[in-house]
Amino acid sequence: MRLRFAPSPTGYLHVGGARTAIFNWLLARKEGGVFVLRIEDTDRERSSDEHTRAILDGMTWLGLDWDEGPFFQNEGVERHRRDALRLLGEGKAYRDFSDPDEVRAEAQERDMHPSRVAREKADALAPGESDRRAAAGEPFAIRFRVPDGETRFQDLVHGDMRFGNSDIDDLVILRSDGTPVYNLAVVSDDADMRITHVIRGDDHLSNTPKQVLLYRALGLPEPIFAHVPLILGADGKRLSKRHGATAIGDYAAEGILPEAMVNFLALLGWSPGDDREFMTVEELIAAFTPERILRKSSVFDTEKLSWLNGRHLSVRPDAELAGHIRRHLADEATLRADLLDDPAWMAALLPVIKVRARTLDELGDQARPFACDELHYDPHAVEKHWLKDPAEAIERLERTRHAFAGAAWTQDALEDRLRSLAEEMGTGAGKLIHPLRVALTGNMASPGIFDVLVLLGRERSEDRMGRAVKRIRAS
Ligand code: GLU
Repeated sequence: MRLRFAPSPTGYLHVGGARTAIFNWLLARKEGGVFVLRIEDTDRERSSDEHTRAILDGMTWLGLDWDEGPFFQNEGVERHRRDALRLLGEGKAYRDFSDPDEVRAEAQERDMHPSRVAREKADALAPGESDRRAAAGEPFAIRFRVPDGETRFQDLVHGDMRFGNSDIDDLVILRSDGTPVYNLAVVSDDADMRITHVIRGDDHLSNTPKQVLLYRALGLPEPIFAHVPLILGADGKRLSKRHGATAIGDYAAEGILPEAMVNFLALLGWSPGDDREFMTVEELIAAFTPERILRKSSVFDTEKLSWLNGRHLSVRPDAELAGHIRRHLADEATLRADLLDDPAWMAALLPVIKVRARTLDELGDQARPFACDELHYDPHAVEKHWLKDPAEAIERLERTRHAFAGAAWTQDALEDRLRSLAEEMGTGAGKLIHPLRVALTGNMASPGIFDVLVLLGRERSEDRMGRAVKRIRAS
């Protein structure tokens, strides 16, 4: 099995392209096949090295390694021309000397397809006329002469596909400037690379009968096709920049993990046949079959992506997450690298904060109050839980600190002390917890307060409570 991903470097790697690459790659890896990367750069004006680089970077980030390539379509131009000239020589294509504007006007007048007008003009030339004009240097395009009848092929997703050839125009295969068009180049390249399976977007479905006709005219073996439905935005319209980030690089920058992105995109338009959602790359490879690509379009659900990301995040090794947290908090003057380097401390911290983070950046933010000695106090939390009634907040903090003094520093012991104190003060435990949370984390929300206390330890907790009281007094 030989598969390929054939992006045009006219833009960044977007989620639709990445999904196409993932499907081809999964099938290649499952079947022990070869995955080829071919950059289709024949549109010289719209292609750029920057886009090529972004595509390669995106593939590398996703972990989609290619076995051959990257090849550049432009390098095959001579072969594309030879194939076009061969069709011309065999009478399966013809020279079109006509002026496109004239042909268009005539086609409109006679209510015909322009290519049929061009064909009529070519066929009306006297014998030898076409060769003579070409030899004299007159410019011409080469058009493929679509035969009569119908074109059928099997699509792994859509089944038996039939197209009436009268609906297919005589496509230009070589422009008058000598450049090949996509439909010829792709056939020539896929045959040259001995590609056996082509998985690509539904937007190419109308090209496929033309390509199938070209394979047959050139006597080349046809690959098996699988056309994947579109990706839609939440509003049911084709996914575009209007819906938010569509470039793979944007997701990398947002702290999405590559394996979460691969998992998410693989499930967008494909199903493992059971109700699994969280899947590792190995599980995806084992389960993938193109027959289970769905026929209907699927909706890009960013909530699900975040959720999957959180799941994948939670199974990453502690040391790696520690490294990320350290990078995320690198600007903090009071960062406690000693704690991040302590595997036992990280093993205690991570389970508590992982469940509250769906991206690497969120994980870093969650770690901040524990990994740094200086807190950033959220002004809303300060206002709501300290400054509405400063005297009361001070009393609650002081009495809580007092109640904790001498307690064993465990969740159970601390909870006992706090609940007894609340009872003694005739108030709810929450009333004591809110100002305490701001004192310990600076934030309105945090992991469970007893988790926070134990993670911080006695000394840091007492110190923060003391600093809180000073701050409230000073304000
Ligand atoms: N270069 C084409 C594109 O980016 C893909 C062609 C193909 O997969 O056959 O849309």
